[in-house]
Amino acid sequence: MTVNLLDFDAASLEAWFAQLGEKPFRARQVLRWMHRFGVDDFGQMTDVAKSLRAKLAEAAVIHGPVPVRDSIAADGTRKWLLDVGRGNAVETVFIPEANRGTLCVSTQVGCALECAFCSTGRQGFNRNLSTAEIIGQLWHANRMLGAVKQLGVGDAGERVISNVVLMGMGEPLANYDNVVAALRLMLDDNAYGLSRRRVTVSTAGMVPAIDRLREDCPVALAVSLHAPTDALRDELVPLNRKYPLKELMAACRRYLQNAPRDFITFEYVLLAGVNDRVEDARAILRLVRDIPCKFNLIPFNPFPGSGFRKPSAEQVRRFQEILMAADIVTTVRKTRGDEIDAACGQLAGKVMDRSKRTIVKFPSEAVV
Ligand code: SAH
Repeated sequence: MTVNLLDFDAASLEAWFAQLGEKPFRARQVLRWMHRFGVDDFGQMTDVAKSLRAKLAEAAVIHGPVPVRDSIAADGTRKWLLDVGRGNAVETVFIPEANRGTLCVSTQVGCALECAFCSTGRQGFNRNLSTAEIIGQLWHANRMLGAVKQLGVGDAGERVISNVVLMGMGEPLANYDNVVAALRLMLDDNAYGLSRRRVTVSTAGMVPAIDRLREDCPVALAVSLHAPTDALRDELVPLNRKYPLKELMAACRRYLQNAPRDFITFEYVLLAGVNDRVEDARAILRLVRDIPCKFNLIPFNPFPGSGFRKPSAEQVRRFQEILMAADIVTTVRKTRGDEIDAACGQLAGKVMDRSKRTIVKFPSEAVV
């Protein structure tokens, strides 16, 4: 099989170049062409020797994702559906704001965690995305947004994507190696050069992998909490049965010792009548008492057949006030890109389930 150079982070690209008998700085040059200039044709790499370009063209390709749909909402939110072969597709969402541009990236085709309120979870799981498919989302979005540096114009490119969140389809820490390689490229000055504080991994709570990430590639961490007690969390986030709250909170404290930010972001989806009561908020305060944190409340984004309801604005406000009264910075996530189904938990893509679930499969809205 031909090698796809988008699969390599800097270290592994240098190792691959070494096998070709080429020096590490050559690998870094090629890395820059691919990621900073968005080039996928060796012929355009003008400061690379012609003989090396020919050698590379023989041995490798630069193969980005194949877009099958590009939707733009009135608020500027833009969603791409990317074909990843064998009838599968994943989604990437760009969210422009006044002071930043955030790309929400997928890490798996589907998800195996089966969180009760998530449409990706309902679709089942097919496979992990490769490093090329993960970083390819950033590579593709940069090109589409006109954010790649102009050929030969050095640093003329504008940084349209300033933040990346791994909050699309899938559980990033269940695809650890490929995700870490992609993170390294996001941080690499020869590639995307993003700050560690502006790259966020969101996890449902894979405790051992949180510990590994702290050592291997610490970036901002968001933890999907969703419930104050094990009894409720076991139901909403089945992974809790394996890594209960006590262990998860301990992992958060350990992470902070080596994190680029001095707080953990807790995501909390508000489900009417399930986890949005005043006593839930109070129990949350007790749970996170000794963890520096911020809260991001996500009013449930409905999808057909979910069985959950969105809380009223009044309920959301009350929940937020209880946390704020305890001096916890608490934001409510705005729904963006409503009409293109780009909100949290609505990314459906197209998943050929291989997990042999017994439940009736949720029909994807995004099938093309
Ligand atoms: N697997 C990772 C990242 C994916 S989802 C994780 O669990 O963190 C990003 C966020 O959207 C998570 O907090 C997830 O729980 C939340 N989410 C999922 N479905 C949702 C829905 N229908 N409405 C609102 N938020 C949802």
